Amino acid sequence: MIHLKDKFKNIATPFYYYDMDLLAKTLDIVKAESSKYGFNVHYAVKANYDDKIMQTIAAHGFGADCVSGGEVAKSLEMGFKHQDIVFAGVGKSDAEINTALDADIFSFNCESLEELSVINELAALKGKVANVALRLNPDVDPQTHAYITTGKAENKFGIPFHEVDTFVEMLPTLTNIKFIGIHFHIGSQITNLSVFKELCERVETFVKWFEERGIRVESINLGGGLGIDYQNPDVNPIAPFADYFKIIADNLKVAEGRSIHFELGRSVVGQCGTLVSRVLFNKTTAAGTQYAIIDGSMTELLRPALYSAYHEVANISSTDTNSTYHIAGGVCESTDLFAKDISLPATKRGDFIVIRSAGAYGSAMASTYNLRPLPCSVYSDTIDNL
Ligand SMILES: *Cc1c(COP(=O)(O)O)cnc(C)c1O
Repeated sequence: MIHLKDKFKNIATPFYYYDMDLLAKTLDIVKAESSKYGFNVHYAVKANYDDKIMQTIAAHGFGADCVSGGEVAKSLEMGFKHQDIVFAGVGKSDAEINTALDADIFSFNCESLEELSVINELAALKGKVANVALRLNPDVDPQTHAYITTGKAENKFGIPFHEVDTFVEMLPTLTNIKFIGIHFHIGSQITNLSVFKELCERVETFVKWFEERGIRVESINLGGGLGIDYQNPDVNPIAPFADYFKIIADNLKVAEGRSIHFELGRSVVGQCGTLVSRVLFNKTTAAGTQYAIIDGSMTELLRPALYSAYHEVANISSTDTNSTYHIAGGVCESTDLFAKDISLPATKRGDFIVIRSAGAYGSAMASTYNLRPLPCSVYSDTIDNL
């Protein structure tokens, strides 16, 4: 990224820099690899809801995966088609359900039996029939960070399988609901692809269970979760989409007329975003630890503080000899730390420090804690006009 330092020169830090060529290339690959099998991909909006990013993804023909009424409204505004929107979430409010009913979305991914009854009632008041998929908890271990695991039996997400009998009994009374299929999302940043094979095996069992009871499963939604290479963003700028879709195609029997859906977030936008900041101060503690304090912080990028997440950090301004640093933001929290004991060219006040692979769950999680302003976005295709 060294070649960008001159372009960044007159821009106030911190800001998010988006490589729009990489985003377009990633979207083309996702499209090509998923189309081989006729799979439908919905972009998980919560990963990044920057306007231009969303518009670009919508223009490439993707659907949207939303987890709030706000995301449903925003997706429509950014050009996603209402019939390609899915809506998950364990705590949908009545107002959010009404927003989605008004929009005639493709499907509610329903996470409890109580929620089903509420959607049925609210749809009845509007004289509508809502498409619903049941989000089932498959109890699969995604082998990722415990904080981003969602498909194990103890997690709050999805309907436990022992309740499905009750669902089948309820179904004839839910006259304003159309059951279209089943939904899963087992976790995020999954790099061991064999986990998806295990998921397919569980899905097969569920499909069989429903069909034995005469209930047709028209659609299967496998959620998202494909991981990216945070360690080597330049070597692996694009996630292994070909392998991912192939492992699903190889392990899931797709009956005639059944549609298969995915909800990808991180793998679509993670690598195209970089948090760009400048060094404010350098200091050495009594214990001898060297800190470079930067103007980027946990309020722009929360992942390190929230999940101890790793992001590659580089000094693109200096070619001095390396020294060992902790890289910290200025927020009044000890967890506001991007890296510990990393080797970087000696930092000076004003050097650009870039934090890579920050396109997903970066700007989307930004806050104004300490009354800091929200970060701006800068795009590779318009940076020369700034
Ligand atoms: C967050 C989320 C996704 C996207 O997950 P990624 O790991 O970013 O691909 C998909 N589906 C649901 C229901 C989610 O909550």
